[in-house]
Amino acid sequence: MTALPPDKCVAIIGSGPAGLIAATRLAEDGHSVTVYDHKPSIARKFLMAGIGGLNITHTLPFEAFLEKYGSAACLLRPALEAFPPEALRAWCEELGEETFVGTSGRVFPVSMKASPLLRVWRKRLDESGVKFRLRMRWTGWNENNHLLFSGPDGSNIPVEADATLLALGGASWPRLGSDGRWTETLESIGVSVTQLEPANCGFRVEWSDIFRARFAGAPVKNVLLRSGEHEVRGEMMITGTGIEGGAVYALSASLREALRTDGHAVLTVDLKADMDESRLAERLSQPRKRQTLTDFLRKSAGLPPVAIALLREAHSNEGLAAATPPDLARWIKALPIRLTATTGIERAISSAGGVSFDELDNGLMLKKRPGTFAAGEMLDWEAPTGGFLLQACFSTGVLAARSITDWLK
Ligand SMILES: Cc1cc2nc3c(=O)[nH]c(=O)nc-3n(C[C@H](O)[C@H](O)[C@H](O)COP(=O)(O)OP(=O)(O)OC[C@H]3O[C@@H](n4cnc5c(N)ncnc54)[C@H](O)[C@@H]3O)c2cc1C
Repeated sequence: MTALPPDKCVAIIGSGPAGLIAATRLAEDGHSVTVYDHKPSIARKFLMAGIGGLNITHTLPFEAFLEKYGSAACLLRPALEAFPPEALRAWCEELGEETFVGTSGRVFPVSMKASPLLRVWRKRLDESGVKFRLRMRWTGWNENNHLLFSGPDGSNIPVEADATLLALGGASWPRLGSDGRWTETLESIGVSVTQLEPANCGFRVEWSDIFRARFAGAPVKNVLLRSGEHEVRGEMMITGTGIEGGAVYALSASLREALRTDGHAVLTVDLKADMDESRLAERLSQPRKRQTLTDFLRKSAGLPPVAIALLREAHSNEGLAAATPPDLARWIKALPIRLTATTGIERAISSAGGVSFDELDNGLMLKKRPGTFAAGEMLDWEAPTGGFLLQACFSTGVLAARSITDWLK
């Protein structure tokens, strides 16, 4: 850490995890740091992330961890090396928030929430002299190249800074602050931004009225979902408009791609993932006697009512009634669900797209605007849930802070 005279002013725009970790590091490096946000309070999305259990990172080995970022893996490597998962866990623990490893290697703080961590973090930032200016929407630069904000009363407020970090987030859950409006500002100075799209999102399905009325809200457990060459084991949730849930989110990049190229996507569901097709066909060959089809499928194949109703949606009552045991087994092992659209960015966990890495140097500085850096979800990468989102936000925030200190020298 190089101590500098505290005469270098750094403006951080965006008070999410990427902005706040950068503020922490830059204050430690001796800079005078101000964090701006257009919302009246800080880190709203981070707090929301903690409501269902804050999955802060993952214990996968480093190379396997990196693979979760797909085509952006090599671009994120320097950031993840600068602040790897162990460093994030150690930092949480240093703030008094022990972490633990939950199911399938996911890491959570013991409180499961973001609020205790944020409370201590904010206190430390205040003690290190970081200032906060809220209700300040960044709108671009003025003719003197000073940052321009729209203040609480709507007036234009210019701010001069020696370096700036943009940590403006993506565009999911816009009511929490990250509304993606910054894309226009950056595009207006020639910065290429890949369109922000829903990631880790649900999808629309045209369910029949009867199915929707009976099964909206029902989980379909222990299924294997396939999209193209990708497959994920887990749970899917039926909603009034389609499907959502962890396993669906994990396939969202591939399903979104199919929607883009074909106008629709087909999700294939193995409703009996623990039994092979021939064994299933054998069980379905038992005499049905006087049982209804539903009872027969429930008893001989062990299918819950929602799975049987999904088969009816895809193959009709008549189709099911006329099917041979091998047909039934094949259909149970590969049920097609036709998806017509994503359920929208407002409820997606994250967004894909953002500032293209071609626009950034190795230290995350915008090549077209020296002295302005970018970090977090606003960069063009995406990842599944599992702690990979927050980890990349923290890591890019740390790398950007390090680069700012180097640049200010
Ligand atoms: C419901 C939900 C659950 C989640 N759970 C998890 C999880 O368990 N694990 C995980 O890894 N990830 C999770 N995420 C994703 C994670 O919260 C985000 O990836 C992360 O918060 C992004 O951090 P960031 O710092 O890049 O941006 P953000 O946290 O989005 O912060 C950006 C900030 O910039 C501000 N801002 C935007 N534009 C302007 C402007 N023009 N002027 C001033 N301020 C501006 C916003 O108000 C906001 O405060 C979840 C997300 C949601 C919605």
